[in-house]
Amino acid sequence: MDIDIIGAGIGGLTTAIALEQKGIKTRIFEQADKIKPVGAGVILANNAMQVYENLGLRKIIEENGNHISSMNITKANLNLMSKVDLSFFEKKHKVRNIAIHRGTLQQILMNELKSTDLNLNHHITSVEPNDNGYALMFENGEQIQSSTLIGADGLNSVVRQNLFPNSVIRNAKQICWRGVTDFKLPIKYKNELNEAWGKKDRFGFVQIAENKVYWYALKSFKKDKDEFLVNDIETYFSNYHPIVNEIIDSTKEEQINTVEISDLKPTNIWHKENVCLIGDAAHAMTPNLGQGACQAIEDAYILSMCLHKYDENIAFKEFQKLRLPKAHQVVKASWILGELAHLSNPILIGIRNQLIRLAPSSLNRKQSEQIFQIPNL
Ligand SMILES: Cc1cc2nc3c(=O)[nH]c(=O)nc-3n(C[C@H](O)[C@H](O)[C@H](O)COP(=O)(O)OP(=O)(O)OC[C@H]3O[C@@H](n4cnc5c(N)ncnc54)[C@H](O)[C@@H]3O)c2cc1C
Repeated sequence: MDIDIIGAGIGGLTTAIALEQKGIKTRIFEQADKIKPVGAGVILANNAMQVYENLGLRKIIEENGNHISSMNITKANLNLMSKVDLSFFEKKHKVRNIAIHRGTLQQILMNELKSTDLNLNHHITSVEPNDNGYALMFENGEQIQSSTLIGADGLNSVVRQNLFPNSVIRNAKQICWRGVTDFKLPIKYKNELNEAWGKKDRFGFVQIAENKVYWYALKSFKKDKDEFLVNDIETYFSNYHPIVNEIIDSTKEEQINTVEISDLKPTNIWHKENVCLIGDAAHAMTPNLGQGACQAIEDAYILSMCLHKYDENIAFKEFQKLRLPKAHQVVKASWILGELAHLSNPILIGIRNQLIRLAPSSLNRKQSEQIFQIPNL
């Protein structure tokens, strides 16, 4: 069985590695002319690291990233409201949570590919079923025949639009700036992700390597993201703890990228005949739980197990059965958390902060437990 994958993001690359390890040959088609690192970090939580442990990549990822032992929600002044202590899960699943530069992770994944045929500069424009499978049409004029296809082409997936034209992208009306900067954090922050919540905005920061910090900042907008300017980020967050402004100030403007936050309204079907969606193409989520890439990585692993065991058609059904309920649960929880984080009414903010502070750590642990658990590894 040969398999074609559209998209060389974290989901597509991890799928190719997992399939290679099961002896299945893949071709990847990626629109970019080179794999460019996004200037941002990514947190690989316990569930993703269990997969990478299984694929033999845990050690190299740990060596190139930074160990995160707790995830904190704080007030704008960095006073702690809630802490998820990750050491419990690290002991249970025998892997750590790692924050890493996206470019570094992409390079590790690319280096791991052995038999996969990676075709850059291939922007897919349509997928047309025919007697032998699918004709894949590319912007560069090429037409390629495929028997089995995986759509790992992200939130705006062309594969999905061809198969399921009625899917709905939801705009969360939040602008997000992400940056990576050379910055020496005080030692107490070294192994923590801290996310500070203000009024209709928040700021997160985490060390991703020695003296390298990844940060993100979000603000709610009314009509469109142009209400805010990248040059004014420091002003928007001037009422936060002084370190927030120091981090922003230390970042070169070209190291900051801007995105609008959106997700995909949960859909009940991810596959049709010999085509299947994974990652953001199937279940894009808002980044509020830091799980989008982790869920794509879980998809990659579970799908490779299903394709190893069954023919494509059954494999895709089994994959959906195993993955859809959990992925949708995370999509929903992420959306709700984003709404909570961006409240504007001071009374509601006070109640929210009080509830977060009072929430028992057993509740936080139970929620994380459900996310970090992976079936049948
Ligand atoms: C601000 C922010 C912070 C985040 N932080 C985290 C985090 O800490 N942890 C975490 O787990 N997740 C995080 N995420 C989510 C995570 O980035 C995504 O869920 C993840 O990248 C999805 O991977 P993917 O491979 O499915 O899709 P993508 O990363 O979108 O990759 C899709 C690939 O397909 C290619 N492609 C697209 N269209 C075509 C086409 N027509 N033809 C050919 N190729 C195409 C693209 O060029 C790209 O290479 C965050 C997201 C955001 C926005």
